[in-house]
Order: sequence, then structure tokens, then C-alpha cells
Amino acid sequence: MRYNIIAASNNEDFGKKASQAFARTLDGATGLPKVILPTGSTPEPFYAALRDDPFSPDFSYLQLDEYLGLKAGDIRLFSEWLGRDVLDPLNITNRMVFNSAADPQSEVQRIMSWCMENGAAHTAVIGLGNNGHVGFNEPGSSFGSRVRVVDLTPETIAANQSYWKGQTVPTQAITLGIADLIEAKNTILLVRGAGKAEILYQALHGPVTPDVPASYLQCQKNLTIVADKAALSRMPR
Ligand code: PGA
Repeated sequence: MRYNIIAASNNEDFGKKASQAFARTLDGATGLPKVILPTGSTPEPFYAALRDDPFSPDFSYLQLDEYLGLKAGDIRLFSEWLGRDVLDPLNITNRMVFNSAADPQSEVQRIMSWCMENGAAHTAVIGLGNNGHVGFNEPGSSFGSRVRVVDLTPETIAANQSYWKGQTVPTQAITLGIADLIEAKNTILLVRGAGKAEILYQALHGPVTPDVPASYLQCQKNLTIVADKAALSRMPR
């Protein structure tokens, strides 16, 4: 397996190193590169670094995943979250976002057609779920999976509850599939915290299996992992 691990000493360092790794993947890209970005607490220092960087790169944004059944403007929408945190501040206007309130199957078809017409992502930046999920590809997701409606596991709903104190978390979502992520020319995996150390180890050094969706990364070319020391504590030296 070929990958490049970048270790960060603290959150600020994490953000700086993640934004440098991101800029490197986009360096020399022709046209407006298509980029997938994750939500969650992990990328927050990365987005803070991008906001602070007057030379942060321009790109077109493709959504990774979204809850289903929320109305436009709902604070819990991942598209709103990304807009607030990074896309609005960076003035990224070219966005392919999922419509949480649309008929789910029609929305899946619309996103699939868009992906087929626009080709693979240039760079997929992804987080890692406690259960090994990427996007909302929960354990059991096949490596051939494409954009689809998924049921969230109780573990993911519980983890997402921390984002929306006092509010419910939808139980279904639309996610890009593992096959959509495999096609990305570059992948940057962001991981922070001791709580992710074991699953990071399993993803990169355990069996390649749909039971750990992130284990697809073992077959991925051009993979960079930006992680803090706590998250790297189980990795071989
Ligand atoms: P987190 O979520 O960054 O909030 O830990 C990651 C994920 O579930 O993909």
C-alpha cells in the first residue's frame, strides 16, 4: 500500500498541514477541479486554515453526503454547514449540493447523472467514522456502491447527535458510494483524536472488507493521511 502520512502536533498544525496537502493536490490542476469535502468535527481546523489563507485555491464543490427529509435552510443540512464553514468564506460558487427535501430516488438519479456527465473528482477529502464509515457508507457498504439512499446506524446517529444539541438527527441520508470515492484522483483522509486510533489502524492495516468501508483506502493511489499524534498512536512505526 502506498500512502503518505502527515502527522500534526496540535489542531492548528493539523489545519495548516491539511490545507497545504489540499493545495498540493490542486496545484497544476486544469480547469476548475472537482472537490469533495466532509462535514464533522474533524475538518474544523482544516476549514479554519483555509479561511485564513488569502491564497486558498478555487475549486468546484461536490457534496459527499446529506441527511434526508430536511427543509431548505435547516441548520442541520450538511450543505448549509459547509456553506457557513468554508464555501461562503472562500467564495466557492460552483456547488453540486444534494436536495434533502426532494423525492429521494429522483434525487439519487439526478446526482448520478451529474457524476456521469462531470467525471471523477479531482480530490476527495474525507473523514473517518467511529465505525469505519466514509461519507455515510456504513459498515456493509460494497466497494462497488454508488450514490444511494442509506439508513444510518444507531452508532452514527448517536455520533451525529453531538453536532445538533437538543435536535433530532434524521435516520436516512444520501451518500456518494465507495465506487464514486475510489474514482477520485487524489484522496486526503483527515483523522483526529485517540478515539479514532483503532479504526484508523483497522482501515489501513486490517482486512480489506466492506465491514470497514474505509479499508477501500488500502487500494487507493495518491492517498494522503493527515492525522494528529493521538489518532496515529496505533499505527506501525
Ligand atoms: P467526526 O465525523 O469528524 O465528527 O468525527 C467523522 C465522520 O463521521 O465521518
